[in-house]
Amino acid sequence: MSETSDGATVELTINGTAVCAEPHMTVVEAAWAGGVPRVTGVGCLEGVCGSCRILIKRGSDVGVALACETIVDQGIEVLFLPPPSTALHQYELAEFDDGWDSQARFHEIFPEASRCRHCHGCVRSCPRGIAVEEGVALATAGRFREAGEAFFECVMCELCDSACPEQIAPAHVGLFSRRITAHFHLRPPNLIHRLEELRQHPFSGPGEKESS
Ligand code: SF4
Ligand code: SF4
Repeated sequence: MSETSDGATVELTINGTAVCAEPHMTVVEAAWAGGVPRVTGVGCLEGVCGSCRILIKRGSDVGVALACETIVDQGIEVLFLPPPSTALHQYELAEFDDGWDSQARFHEIFPEASRCRHCHGCVRSCPRGIAVEEGVALATAGRFREAGEAFFECVMCELCDSACPEQIAPAHVGLFSRRITAHFHLRPPNLIHRLEELRQHPFSGPGEKESS
């Protein structure tokens, strides 16, 4: 059993196993300290990779979160969620050679997107506080640049996809929006400049030039 200097512990269950944790621990740390076998579904430990998706039950409330940034709490029940299923929405950006029909193509790839029932499930499930529902509406209206900006902080945990009763896959709507925007626009000038530097001086670091 893990105890703090004053002996305080937090009791919770993780994947059905009773665990005693120190109060400052995250759910991932508590799982490891409590001997819960967990080597998959854990990645960066900083809330960036979106891998450690969990379901949390607090009394009668049930929600979702990322385990690496969730601090343990007395009596909570935690279940690590399996990885999201393979996306059903497939497309090749190279086949988009004309931006005029991009909205029509979007609706062929994501036919469910226009069936949003505005249940807010995606918004409530997002650990990044993204306006997911609005982002889907913007993409549905062909406003891909704005939709991509709405999903700017997305970590692709796909908790919103799991929450959507219409199987819209909002995370992938956001990804498509960012990709299609980049596909039809000039790349950032500093990136173009750096790529040109590398083309001219393939083995040089930033600001360095090969000596002749
Ligand atoms: S928009 Fe969806 S995939 Fe992105 S961080 Fe929010 S819940 Fe995760
Ligand atoms: S969960 Fe799906 S149906 Fe509900 S608001 Fe979000 S995108 Fe629309």
